[in-house]
Amino acid sequence: MRLSKGFWQTYKEIPNDAEIPSHQLMMRAGLIHKSGAGLYNYLPMGLRAIKKFEQIIRDEHDKIGCHEISMSVVTPGELWKETGRWDKMGDLMAKFKDKKDQDLCLSPTNEEAVTDIFRKTIKSYKQLPVTLYQINTKFRDEIRPRFGLMRGREFTMKDAYSFHMDKDCLDRVYQDIYDCYCRIFDRVGLEYIPVEADGGAMASSDSKTHEFQVVANAGEDAIIYSPESRYAANIEKAQTIRGKLNFKQSSEAMKNVSTPKMATIEDVCSFLKTEKHHSLKSLVYKAVVANKDVFVLALLLGDDELNEIKLQAFLKAEHLIQATEEEMKKLGLVKGFIGPVGVATNLVIVFDKQIDLNAAYVVGANEVDMHTENFIPSRDLKSTQTHDLRLAKEGDYTLDGKHLVVVKRGIEVGHVFQLGDKYTKGMSVQVLDKNGKLATPLMGCYGIGVTRVVAAAIEQSHDENGIIWPKAIAPYQIYFATIVKKEETKKLADEIYSDLLKAGFEVLYDDRDQGPGFKFKDADLIGLPIRLVLGERDYEASGELEIVTRKGAQSFKVKKENLVTELKRVWDSI
Ligand code: ATP
Ligand code: MG
Repeated sequence: MRLSKGFWQTYKEIPNDAEIPSHQLMMRAGLIHKSGAGLYNYLPMGLRAIKKFEQIIRDEHDKIGCHEISMSVVTPGELWKETGRWDKMGDLMAKFKDKKDQDLCLSPTNEEAVTDIFRKTIKSYKQLPVTLYQINTKFRDEIRPRFGLMRGREFTMKDAYSFHMDKDCLDRVYQDIYDCYCRIFDRVGLEYIPVEADGGAMASSDSKTHEFQVVANAGEDAIIYSPESRYAANIEKAQTIRGKLNFKQSSEAMKNVSTPKMATIEDVCSFLKTEKHHSLKSLVYKAVVANKDVFVLALLLGDDELNEIKLQAFLKAEHLIQATEEEMKKLGLVKGFIGPVGVATNLVIVFDKQIDLNAAYVVGANEVDMHTENFIPSRDLKSTQTHDLRLAKEGDYTLDGKHLVVVKRGIEVGHVFQLGDKYTKGMSVQVLDKNGKLATPLMGCYGIGVTRVVAAAIEQSHDENGIIWPKAIAPYQIYFATIVKKEETKKLADEIYSDLLKAGFEVLYDDRDQGPGFKFKDADLIGLPIRLVLGERDYEASGELEIVTRKGAQSFKVKKENLVTELKRVWDSI
């Protein structure tokens, strides 16, 4: 593309709302244009990168036999009402009515829509398994749209859905798509980690789910990772254990002590001169389980944090919120001084697995300004149940106790998920099985954040001067800048440009009437893998052009007649 006739503008200024490098660079390099909060127009350079990535996705999905479709972005409310998600989606989903007063929404995801297509098309096990995918616009009215394309409200997603007669087949296709995702992200050159993810409170225990996380400081997710054992899980899901702890052994009876105005673990432990893990943290929640309110007291070591997602999964709860002071009172609990002794019998008590039930702890006494010492769970309660409830943290060990884990920040670029029969059952889908009986098929769903990946690639690959595009999704391969005055050298440059196009290169031809400083700044900012320079003076002196790689800034002088061969060599070497 000839820049003198192009539609491209770069900017020096960093927009006020652009907090992270990828967002700043995408705006400054003229890839995108903001139209509203979380809403972006894709400009020619940005769109080329997005389309290149889409092509990689298509290529890899087609290779494993997936079928591309495109579903309407607006979907009827009726479909969502069949599965109960019309209400459950809450205000994330943009809903509206048409002129016949029918409910409609902008698709935040498409399980219902694809299941509807499936049930109207597939009748027999002979037609299965089948995987459908699309690359399409999604709308989610996110609470905090930010970071440009990273968390937009409107964004492009690749979503795929597979259908099967049995779990074995679902497992096989799940693995195929998992491998397909690895190939896609490898082709883009991303540094990513597939991590175990949380399947939600209602997921069955044998249903697998993984997220593909790009490691980057700007990531909104926390990943627990052990490089040695390759264990990796989203912190929401991660199961780890603490290093060896010296628990307090005691045979003394429980004793109440005065702890005036000390409602935090820190205050109480320093006052009683005891270690934090010799005390228990008590947290009270109201859970909705099968449409009923259940109150639960979760106990953790004093220096651990609760992972609410684990508690919710343990209770199989649809919702979980902290209990109010009023609710606590009714359960015999006193805020700030909560403990497990002498509480209402309808309160479910659960201990984190890391707690030694035979050791002695400080707990709240359920009296204002009082704590209890020497509480021994196995001795002082009629029954105790334990479950893994704690939030994994840096310094923990893998479950075998052998490897330390670290916390990394991650950007979720993809997600694969075994849905089981949630939607097929919910939408009464049945097909004939081998024995001629009607059976409910199983489903998997698989998403890639297309526009998020482009942002994540930049987040992972840039420097202070601009983007350093991975080869596979660079808008063009070569930034061809000319520093020419004479008409005859301009003609020569045009010839070179057309030779390069003929040789199959994608070239951004900077033939603008500007100096080298201006052009090189733009070249660095847009960050195409190769910069080619025709400098009139150098060319007249030596007959050579210059090739510089954006990554590593390697430079090569090359004669015009060797240009195509040399560019091919350099391209292959980067
Ligand atoms: P997140 O936890 O980041 O909100 P999610 O788990 O809700 O994402 P999924 O429903 O798994 O997202 O969607 C599939 C993929 O779509 C995600 O892995 C992510 O890459 C992408 N995605 C989700 N929300 C957004 C968004 N607001 N902007 C851009 N991409 C998104
Ligand atoms: Mg997800």
